[in-house]
Amino acid sequence: MDLLRFDGRVAVITGAGGGLGKEYALLLAARGAKVVVNDLGSARDGVGKSNFADTVVKEIRDKGGVAVADYNSVVNGEKIIKTAIDNFGRIDILINNAGILRDKSFLKLSEQDWDLVHAVHLKGAYKTTHAAWEYFRKQNYGRIIMTSSNAGIYGNFGQTNYSAAKLGLVGFCYALALEGAKYNIKVNTIVPTAASRLTEDILPPDMFQAMKPDLIAPVVAYMSHESFDGTGHVIDSTLGYASKVHFVKSVGTPLKKKPSDPVTIESVKDFWPKVVDMNGAKHIDKIAEVSMDLADRLQVFENRA
Ligand code: NAD
Repeated sequence: MDLLRFDGRVAVITGAGGGLGKEYALLLAARGAKVVVNDLGSARDGVGKSNFADTVVKEIRDKGGVAVADYNSVVNGEKIIKTAIDNFGRIDILINNAGILRDKSFLKLSEQDWDLVHAVHLKGAYKTTHAAWEYFRKQNYGRIIMTSSNAGIYGNFGQTNYSAAKLGLVGFCYALALEGAKYNIKVNTIVPTAASRLTEDILPPDMFQAMKPDLIAPVVAYMSHESFDGTGHVIDSTLGYASKVHFVKSVGTPLKKKPSDPVTIESVKDFWPKVVDMNGAKHIDKIAEVSMDLADRLQVFENRA
């Protein structure tokens, strides 16, 4: 099979000074992309700054690749996109990867812990994406990756702030994929699990050793390639394995026995087991299906009332 290359493409990868982002940067650069290695260089809780994007840029250049460092915070995402335009004249790929953790049980979680985590993950992805969007629209081409987490999809104790922001990115991806469809802008989400400073005290040591971030990089790179046609996918990946995640909806039930019956708190209680029975649950691919379902339901409701 021919190698999937990125010659002529410019990629911006946020939070690429270490962990997963670094592996994405190394792989895309090795395959010919010009890369903006963005990293604020903060500690894992978002505090402080340093230039560790430089190490990644050096490694890329030493191997003959092309990269520049960018030290802006993703909350100033427009400056990161400007770095791509100023240095390389275009942008084709945006990987929203930067992230921090401020884990605390909810009672102890301050408003600052909530705001900072949302600022980096959700607002940061909005800022970079919004700035890149005008270029993607004009050139009828773009590849965007959001980074979610199992903590967002399933919830995780002590991570209410992070879980909320990470699931927010899934909604952002779904809606933006629709807006990008006719402009050849593909928007997808990675749900990674890998060894990094974010997981060093969470994953058991043997797992930590095995879960190399470079095992996830090919998945992200494939979804960033011009040949990749999928959009609105949420892809879980770890340990050289990948799978798709999506929501399903139960078949559900009317909340009354006879058409003339009222819907009461008690009837909801009676029918609850059927409401939450996931046998036969189905995935809804498009919001239009929900609208059609609503129209059908309205007809049934009016006929029964
Ligand atoms: P990491 O800490 O090694 O990488 C995150 C990088 O983002 C750091 O280098 C950090 O300096 C940078 N960063 C933080 N705030 C920034 C800001 N405001 N602007 C620019 N850069 C900033 O951790 P990682 O595990 O490689 O995480 C990468 C992404 O993957 C994150 O979004 C994280 O939430 C997500 N994620 C990771 C895992 C995992 O198992 N490692 C699981 C689920 C989700």
